[in-house]
Amino acid sequence: MNKTGGCQCGIIKYELTGAPIMLYICHCKDCQKQSSSAFGMSLRMNPHDVAFIQGEDRLKSWDTRGEDGAIKRCVFCPDCGTRIIHGSDSPDEVVSIKAGSLDDTSWLDPVAHIWLQSAQPWVAIDRDQYRCFDREPEDENALRKQWQSQNPMI
Ligand SMILES: [Zn+2]
Ligand SMILES: [Zn+2]
Repeated sequence: MNKTGGCQCGIIKYELTGAPIMLYICHCKDCQKQSSSAFGMSLRMNPHDVAFIQGEDRLKSWDTRGEDGAIKRCVFCPDCGTRIIHGSDSPDEVVSIKAGSLDDTSWLDPVAHIWLQSAQPWVAIDRDQYRCFDREPEDENALRKQWQSQNPMI
């Protein structure tokens, strides 16, 4: 496995050194803002399985709070503004790689679409293929198990 990614201008480069935990698509208003687009792609990773190859000391972060009140640390390239990771204030908690920053996105296959209550109205989703939630899913562990069984080679 050799999965690399980075920011748009190229000063930040990282590598995923372990297996991803899950991928979902989020249509919440915060993800529309942070991506400047229709939705966010969150590749859940153990933080110790994300290794920076270049530019780690250049990264900047900005803290906000999620629905549950917990701190969400948004990490980005200060030069080009590409969002790289969403984490928390704990170094051991699972993080979300903003998966559009991967060099090869061809293998990305989400298990779920969440926060569909705020999805752009023209986004068409095959509800037979994906788990769909109007808001936050209650049980992320079930989604992790399903994603891992559908992506055994990743
Ligand atoms: Zn950059
Ligand atoms: Zn979101």
